[in-house]
Amino acid sequence: MTTPAPQAPAASQRATLLGCAQPLDEAYDVALLDLDGVCFAGEARVPHAADSVNAARGAGMRLSFVTNNASRTPQAIVDKLAANGIQARAEEVFSAAMDGAALLGEHVPAGSTVLVVGGQGVRQALTDAGFAVTSTAQDQPVAVVQGWDPGVDWAMLSEATYAIGQGALHVATNLDSTLPTERGFALGNGSLVAAVVNATGKQPLAGGKPTPGIYQRALARSGGARPLAIGDRLNTDLVGARTAGFPGLHVLTGVSTARDVVLATPGERPSFVHTDLRGLTRPHPQPTAVQDQGRTWWQVGDQRARVTEGRLELAGAGVLSTSATVVLDAYRALVAAAWDHADTLAESQTRAAQAGSWLHEALRVPELDVVAP
Ligand SMILES: [Mg+2]
Repeated sequence: MTTPAPQAPAASQRATLLGCAQPLDEAYDVALLDLDGVCFAGEARVPHAADSVNAARGAGMRLSFVTNNASRTPQAIVDKLAANGIQARAEEVFSAAMDGAALLGEHVPAGSTVLVVGGQGVRQALTDAGFAVTSTAQDQPVAVVQGWDPGVDWAMLSEATYAIGQGALHVATNLDSTLPTERGFALGNGSLVAAVVNATGKQPLAGGKPTPGIYQRALARSGGARPLAIGDRLNTDLVGARTAGFPGLHVLTGVSTARDVVLATPGERPSFVHTDLRGLTRPHPQPTAVQDQGRTWWQVGDQRARVTEGRLELAGAGVLSTSATVVLDAYRALVAAAWDHADTLAESQTRAAQAGSWLHEALRVPELDVVAP
């Protein structure tokens, strides 16, 4: 006997945390997992990632590794996951390169000749999808598929510009403006696409996160019916989940911090939060609003939070004015309180704007270090 898996609410409703009485890997039947910052972190392992992903598979959950990285082939990704202790098969990988090839297939016939701006990941995705690939505009390609690779250079970008000038369709695997590296943010595919667009004046079709298509195509390929998207970046993984209408689990092992989650706009909010992938194998308590002496608190477990004069307050700890270490349920209560405050303020500002006056109250949030038992 299973209860229905909680679903992300309609866009017209407030975007808040959901509760799930079952472990998520039992309530949902397919995990759409981001890679970097979730399953591994660059060259480093992520704590609890391997045990949690392998346990979810053992519980019967389907897995789909959904990545905006277009340079690696599925087998290279399987090898990288294996080096991090995570079992995966090539057919469980869905990359932005594969998404770009699938998107292209909705616009041009199979067998068409396509110019590749990218590396082996894009080339193999196009070949696997039945396209002929070329590296020169002189072959009269019907389309250009552009994905990030360290080998992309002026000559390749110029071939793309020639081809698009001759009428070829421009498809970007994804539009990430930056690429996180050990030294900081480098140029991402979106910035290289922008160089071509600057020359052609024509906007490309785009796949990858945060477009909902990559999650929808990954879900279709997985054969699952109840998807859960999992990621570390609000502006790609979690925006994509909201846009696709899929519940999202955010983990703190990558780019977006707990403070970022507290301050998230409705369109980028996760449905579930945890420090790491243990959140995939556990139930999630529903935050509830409780009234106490005329004030509303948000409660999760034995933790209560509210917003007081633009600052976060935790029952027992007081107002959080400097960086703070909080337990997982306190983090959830803080998130629920902050989102409710922001949404209430937005609604009152709309009313105030309609009445000709404005309300301004910024929420000041310190850095939060979340610890999970
Ligand atoms: Mg990531």
